[in-house]
Amino acid sequence: MTDTPRRVLLDEHELPRHWYNITADLPEAPPPPLHPGTHEPIGPDDLAPLFADALIAQEVSSERYIEIPEEVRDVYAMWRPTPLIRATRLERLLDTPAQIWFKYEGTSPAGSHKPNTAVPQAYYNAREGVRRLTTETGAGQWGSALAFAATQFDLECEVWQVAASFQQKPYRASMIRTWGATIHSSPSELTAAGRQVRERDPDSPGSLGIAISEAVEAALADDATHYALGSVLNHVLLHQTVIGEEALTQFAKVGLTPDLIIGCTGGGSNFAGLSFPFLREKLAGRMSPHILAVEPASCPTLTKGEYRYDFGDLAGMTPLMKMHTLGHDFIPDPIHAGGLRYHGMAPLISHVYELGLIDATAMPQTACFEAGLNFARTEGIIPAPEPTHAIAAAVREALACRESGEEKVILTAVCGHGHFDLSAYDAYLSGELVDHELDTDQIAEAMSRVPVIAE
Ligand SMILES: *Cc1c(COP(=O)(O)O)cnc(C)c1O
Repeated sequence: MTDTPRRVLLDEHELPRHWYNITADLPEAPPPPLHPGTHEPIGPDDLAPLFADALIAQEVSSERYIEIPEEVRDVYAMWRPTPLIRATRLERLLDTPAQIWFKYEGTSPAGSHKPNTAVPQAYYNAREGVRRLTTETGAGQWGSALAFAATQFDLECEVWQVAASFQQKPYRASMIRTWGATIHSSPSELTAAGRQVRERDPDSPGSLGIAISEAVEAALADDATHYALGSVLNHVLLHQTVIGEEALTQFAKVGLTPDLIIGCTGGGSNFAGLSFPFLREKLAGRMSPHILAVEPASCPTLTKGEYRYDFGDLAGMTPLMKMHTLGHDFIPDPIHAGGLRYHGMAPLISHVYELGLIDATAMPQTACFEAGLNFARTEGIIPAPEPTHAIAAAVREALACRESGEEKVILTAVCGHGHFDLSAYDAYLSGELVDHELDTDQIAEAMSRVPVIAE
């Protein structure tokens, strides 16, 4: 047995009362989103047809702490606070003097961190009289989280899932239907955007960009319907800070502070949720953790992308956001960590990266699955393919500590379980999983279609 506890649990009354808004503490405000047509900064009116007023207010807020409504805390309490667990058996396998801790977000009903934002998004929309939410989903993690949240507040929910995933991964769709939501394979016949694609290509495998266009179109067509997004935006990152706030309390209980914080980044929400409360402490001079974002080598937005204004979607309908991007029509290779295949990075993460407050690294998927397998065989939990990126980087750091003798305290997030991704583990175990060579020509081509904005 070790000298510190293996699991640090919090009581229900220790569930955070506030979300943390990092913009209040940054030396410079992030650049504003711009209207896709006029290139002028957008205002709340531009977002009102799609999002609840309370969420728009959070999107542009510079207040440090935003109170979590009691109704939201009541749903959070179904699985939060989540455990902080020390991976002692993984440490032993690696023979490292480092401590590896992970915040486990797979205990939520949908099995990932995504309900942390789906629940408040559903709550505020219901409070403002909205009756139906639409969204897109790739592998299905976000769609299932929103379906769960919608049923808690008696909202209808309609999900457009990328056709290829709809066919290959049927069980997330089953979850979505079980929670009472409707799911469509995208492109569908239900929207002009979907019909247009199907006319050209009846067997289109779909894409997140097309699915976003369909969900947005359906929301705009009806006053009682709004749209919900599962990552990237400021209010989504804000809601995820419950992860880091809990982890801070948990570390305080065992008298430790992390030396290194590692998270995986797709759109950036779980990474921001874990790290931003610690970054607040670092900016205030109370601790000095090194903070590292890990992205897939096939979609390296932070390490290889440019910091430019670009669209959030393929069709160029969203506001222009200043972010690290590989180009809005860049299509990454079909790696199994579907949640990390986004062409851009959250504007807030991109901004703190530009300010030099965080670092980034990219990992190929076979190394990630190897680490995921070692994690599963020691700690028991089978991680989703996305967090295996963070685990792989933590393992690399822990092995470096074996060489240097450093007793670093490493913190990471296992932001979801992999129970719906077992076909990816099968592919790895049978040796079929490969690392794709990054197509730099495709990136250059996609970047040439990013609009040039005079700043
Ligand atoms: C969606 C998802 C991600 C990627 O999204 P972020 O906003 O970067 O967190 C990562 N892991 C899991 C388990 C997901 O469901």
